[in-house]
Amino acid sequence: MERQHDAVLRTVAERNVRFVRLWFCDVVGTLKSIAISPEDLESAFDEGIGFDGSTIEGLTRAYESDMLLRPDPATFQLLPWRGETEGTARMMCDVLTPDGEPAASDPRRVLKDALARAEAKGLELYLHPEIEFYLFREPYQSGEPLVPIDSAGYFDHVHKGAGKDFRRTAIQYLEQMNIQVEYSHHENGPGQNEIDLRYTDALTAADNILTFRTVVKEVALTMGQSATFMPKPMIEHPGSGMHTHLSLFQGGKNAFHEPGAEYGLSRLARQFIAGLLRHAPEYCALTNQFVNSYKRLWGAQEAPSYVTWGHNNRSALVRVPFHKPTKGTSSRIEFRGADSACNPYLAFAALLSAGMAGIEGEYELPEGAEDTVWELTERERRAMGIEPLPSDLYRALEVFEGSELMASVLGEQVFEYFLRNKHQEWQRYREQVTPQELSTTFHLI
Ligand code: GLN
Ligand code: MG
Ligand code: MG
Ligand code: MG
Repeated sequence: MERQHDAVLRTVAERNVRFVRLWFCDVVGTLKSIAISPEDLESAFDEGIGFDGSTIEGLTRAYESDMLLRPDPATFQLLPWRGETEGTARMMCDVLTPDGEPAASDPRRVLKDALARAEAKGLELYLHPEIEFYLFREPYQSGEPLVPIDSAGYFDHVHKGAGKDFRRTAIQYLEQMNIQVEYSHHENGPGQNEIDLRYTDALTAADNILTFRTVVKEVALTMGQSATFMPKPMIEHPGSGMHTHLSLFQGGKNAFHEPGAEYGLSRLARQFIAGLLRHAPEYCALTNQFVNSYKRLWGAQEAPSYVTWGHNNRSALVRVPFHKPTKGTSSRIEFRGADSACNPYLAFAALLSAGMAGIEGEYELPEGAEDTVWELTERERRAMGIEPLPSDLYRALEVFEGSELMASVLGEQVFEYFLRNKHQEWQRYREQVTPQELSTTFHLI
């Protein structure tokens, strides 16, 4: 550890870094940042940097608002868009109480604890997210129509126009920050793009997703555009999902892989999927945390609405991708439910714990479905035992609130803060009279 600190201090001196940003996030996953000067770095590593967390959503109770941030030296990176001279660097931080204990309210702590429970059983979570987002021509202004930067579609090559060099610039920045990109392409919706990050351990992946969202927004703004990760910005176009490929490793080997088994999937992998399915309604509020998330889930366009799994089935909540025998032990599963606006720390902790419950409880994996679930009738779905995901945030919160598994994964504080924050969001939503209600009801009677 000591050596990592020294390496950071040396780089800061050599590269003449002017500011070091300490990054963390609130309960919904909004990135928070405090800039310190390099002189304070050593004490940040030793004792942490004090800050008043009282106005940060879900971080502190009013009477205990003083908190500490302790940077994780392994996450030190220069921000490429801040230039080379007098540059700015960032580190992801753990939030601590004034006594130096991990803060119960820190989302990063929630994920670390979930990972530690799996590690106690010899299992490590690796994942790779496919992150979808939209680009619009103008910076967002409330009330103004959204104009996507292009009208291209799935895998289209964009010849010219405002969006052409966007991904190129964003990926260069990400790679300069040691965030490796596997694929990138235009998505189905106009102005919609996808960038897939390479496999890493789950904590690094969550840190990377927070950084990714900032990089994408930063590049968009420099180009005079705007980017959004909101799940369904335009009701007539596809939403932005964050499909996540997961696998568990044991002793350096992929524990989801079993040679010769169906789809190359081990018994452990089948139990993990069974856990993801059985607990889906309970963690849905975390993987799909906004009122708007449910407009993606129930807006078709390849977003899952039902709790099913399948092999080549893009309507399924969990898909087992084609397993190339040449890829050896790359067995993994694709969770298609999460959207790009989730808090990745909480979402990954919830998914891992649901899967682990499947392993510990030796859940039986139900029959897979290769049918496109949307095309079945309600009766057919019922006969096949296919359950829907919650239809809106309120229903998701009802199930979440009653879930012992979720309460224990998050810990009491995050569980309570999250519920309070989300009930407020629902309440504000309910208070609206929408243009649709006006246009359908005004002249009706
Ligand atoms: N946008 C779709 C979703 O919301 C996914 C489309 C795709 O990747 N094929 O999940
Ligand atoms: Mg993809
Ligand atoms: Mg996609
Ligand atoms: Mg996918």
